[in-house]
Amino acid sequence: MAKGKGDRQVVTLGCTECRERTYTTSKNRRNDPDRLEFRKFCPRCRKHELYRETR
Ligand SMILES: [Zn+2]
Repeated sequence: MAKGKGDRQVVTLGCTECRERTYTTSKNRRNDPDRLEFRKFCPRCRKHELYRETR
């Protein structure tokens, strides 16, 4: 797991509905140059919402 030269970047995921920032993840900038999107459970909306990478 712990190999590489700093291509992995920590990103924050924010709910597109209420903008709550609940999750963080990491990505590889070379594999994912664009913004990531995930469907995750939002505790504020109390349902699954689309989370998008924020900065
Ligand atoms: Zn939400």
